[in-house]
Amino acid sequence: MTFADLNLSTPLLNALSDLGYVKPTTIQAKAFSVVMSGKDVCGIAQTGTGKTFAYLLPCLRQWKYPKDRYPQILILVPTRELVVQVVEAVKKLTSYMTVEVIGAYGGVNMKTQVAAIENGCDVVVATPGRLLDLAYNGALKLKNIKRLVIDEVDEMLSLGFRTQLNNILDLLPPKRQNLMFSATITEDVEILMNTYFDTPEIIEAAPTGTPLANINQTGYDVPNFYTKVNLLELLLNEDADMTKVLVFAATKRMADDLYEQLEPKFTGALGVIHSNKDQNHRFNTVNQFQAGVYRFIIATDIIARGLDVAEVTHVINFDTPDVPENYMHRIGRTGRADKKGISITFTTEKEQEYKTAIETLMNYKIPVLPLPDHLEISTELTNDEMPKVHMKEIFVKIPKRENVGAAFHEKSAKRQKVNVKVKYSDILKKKYKKPLKRKPKK
Ligand code: AMP
Repeated sequence: MTFADLNLSTPLLNALSDLGYVKPTTIQAKAFSVVMSGKDVCGIAQTGTGKTFAYLLPCLRQWKYPKDRYPQILILVPTRELVVQVVEAVKKLTSYMTVEVIGAYGGVNMKTQVAAIENGCDVVVATPGRLLDLAYNGALKLKNIKRLVIDEVDEMLSLGFRTQLNNILDLLPPKRQNLMFSATITEDVEILMNTYFDTPEIIEAAPTGTPLANINQTGYDVPNFYTKVNLLELLLNEDADMTKVLVFAATKRMADDLYEQLEPKFTGALGVIHSNKDQNHRFNTVNQFQAGVYRFIIATDIIARGLDVAEVTHVINFDTPDVPENYMHRIGRTGRADKKGISITFTTEKEQEYKTAIETLMNYKIPVLPLPDHLEISTELTNDEMPKVHMKEIFVKIPKRENVGAAFHEKSAKRQKVNVKVKYSDILKKKYKKPLKRKPKK
């Protein structure tokens, strides 16, 4: 099947042809006819399956030039990076149409976004918080929204956007088409879908849990952090095919520690991104990676979700993720669209159970490769890897209250005075040594 077989308009077909895309991916082919039929849709698709065009193509196909310039299509995504990426995708697809798209996300001044909206826009791509701010402040009118897309719903819910999503859904016109895309259908995703969606049709890119067929997955059993560093260095030095490598680390600290170890050896060829790095740093790092200046970048899970970097040759899981779905997201970054990718996972003894959970989810055993003979095995341990030393509990007797000295805040002599009320009759009694009675009134 080619894009020409879908009921697309000439401007969209021309745009696709400029991009060099001929064949729709599975999710694109499946989503198109269902969305065109007007039904609500829940698409199960990881990043890399072509899901962005899967919802954009039918939404833009049904878009009509409006009488007023209030937006008709609203796309909600979890991260700023994804906003930028989806805006770019809309622009690419609408190069032969007069569609105005704006991207709105928090952390930057709202004025520019308000001005852009006031100029008239047709498609809004936003993170939930900023979308609500714009709607509540009156800048953004939602009354014409005909199609709502919630992308990476599972991620959005796990980032804690549930209340904001509910608030947005309550603001939208009831007569609309809802589309959502998620890598996995969790219980929370199902609740959201059942509350706001009208018997959605569920479509899948690849059934959840099956390894993406076009990714070659392997792994190494590695004893500790520093040996993992040595192994990564060795692989990068010896495998010339590793030209665009995305290295995942479990935490910001692990990402920074790893960067610190590798920076002296690969100076100028690597970057690091995580949520503590500011927006500019993140954009620049991704651009350098995209442009091929950086051979590899080290990233944490959440940040890597929104990255649109094409042609990632290898995904290296420096840690084995404890949430199996994260493994699926990570490896989905290589072998994008119809290109073959490679994923390599490093697993310590402690992480073996995580690997088992991943393998159970995928119903696939990741082949373990022998460690290279010349790999230097480090015996140095990080603080986290050190065996925990338990201190003997020492009981200290607390002195009894009466044994302690003066209180730290002793009251001053003046403040210690107590107000004693003395009756006037008692003063007179003291003075005259006998009770004094008032003379009876005449
Ligand atoms: P996504 O899963 O939406 O993040 O898309 C993954 C990548 O595949 C993006 O860089 C798209 O530009 C690209 N892509 C999307 N659809 C196609 C297609 N039909 N043929 C080739 N590449 C595509």
